Amino acid sequence: MTNSEKIFAEAVNYIPGGVNSPVRAFGSIGSTPRMIKRAEGSKLYDEDGREYIDFVCSWGPMILGHNHPKVREAVQEACERGLSFGAATKIEVEMAKLICESVPSIEMIRMVNSGTEAVMSAIRLARGYTKRDKIVKFAGCYHGHSDSLLIQAGSGALTAGIPDSAGVPEGCTKDTLSAVYNDLSSVEELFGQFPEEIACVVVEPVAANMGVVVPKEGFLKGLRSLCDRYGALLLFDEVITGFRLCFGGAQEYFGVKADLAAYGKIIGAGMPVGAYGGKREIMELVAPLGPVYQAGTLSGNPVAMAAGYTQLSILKEHPEYYDALHKKADDFFGRMKEIVKEAGAPCQVNHIASLGCLFFTQEPVTDYRSAKTSDTKAYAAYCNVMLEKGIYPAPAQFEAMFLSMAHTKEELEKTLEGIRSFFKFSA
Ligand SMILES: *Cc1c(COP(=O)(O)O)cnc(C)c1O
Repeated sequence: MTNSEKIFAEAVNYIPGGVNSPVRAFGSIGSTPRMIKRAEGSKLYDEDGREYIDFVCSWGPMILGHNHPKVREAVQEACERGLSFGAATKIEVEMAKLICESVPSIEMIRMVNSGTEAVMSAIRLARGYTKRDKIVKFAGCYHGHSDSLLIQAGSGALTAGIPDSAGVPEGCTKDTLSAVYNDLSSVEELFGQFPEEIACVVVEPVAANMGVVVPKEGFLKGLRSLCDRYGALLLFDEVITGFRLCFGGAQEYFGVKADLAAYGKIIGAGMPVGAYGGKREIMELVAPLGPVYQAGTLSGNPVAMAAGYTQLSILKEHPEYYDALHKKADDFFGRMKEIVKEAGAPCQVNHIASLGCLFFTQEPVTDYRSAKTSDTKAYAAYCNVMLEKGIYPAPAQFEAMFLSMAHTKEELEKTLEGIRSFFKFSA
């Protein structure tokens, strides 16, 4: 038994499934988790002294790479001053100002502790603002684990084959309407059915929790005009895309303004941070200014803010980092496509900016239905081979591959070599 296996054997006695978030369990690839001891740059190091080139990057936050010295120093300095005050601080104002000045359409922002909380709160606000109850989400999109959004959810729910979670009363989801990603007519139909009842359309501008699914030309703009036509709000769940597609996130990248946007992951640089923001007129309805209640004991925590603010400041000061990252990613995923083609493998490589996914299916993946045609057993085989080679892809088919600014050319080369040899061996 490896040290990781020993620790995991103990973990399952005390933690459901041995993990604090389902996808970490490695169940869908028929394996057990590598217990990670530390991380640096693009590498993870486990309890057995093995190292891995990491393509999970903590599920997105680590766009600068793990344990960035400036982020770490900022956190250490913040710790010196105390871990939490439960009172207003200057760093929260600096953080809010930085985001409002950088993201189109965000005039005010509220910090929370997770992406789940951010989307959940933004939906409450959209309902409070429009005085309507229904919401539209897309099958295969994941917006965290709040009750009303656990319908045909992506990520762990999709991997585990749990389309609708147990324990969610019907009353909580009766106002959640499900549409087809990349299919405007499915949204139009819902608006036709409920023209004056839909509070908002919530969407991952790039769907990154059913693997990676890129929006078709005109899809997001089409959502914008449908929302305008029917008086609904457009809510971008930018928990993954925010500060990743580019500094201004999907709104800047695609040139589509949302009314509200939710953030997480990169915004906290690895600390538990989420945020939601948007037009002043809407945000002014949030307590204590308005009647939409939302609160958090540790929201805007000074240590978490120090981490997030430092990472965002570095990204803002260095737009060239994005150029280099995108160039690296274009090259990497482009070559992955070539490898798949040369091997004649029944696979698809979806890719945008520094996000990508290798799907084991013959069909182009454009939505939930086509994503589900993936051969998850083939993905599991691939994943286990990669792990053996010291490469750490997401331990489930329906997750994104994240590239960071710390990945080197040599590491990407080694990864492509690993993929090439996997296909050669499995053919
Ligand atoms: C990760 C994620 C969430 C949930 O964020 P948590 O911090 O895990 O609660 C919500 N939406 C999207 C698009 C995500 O990728």
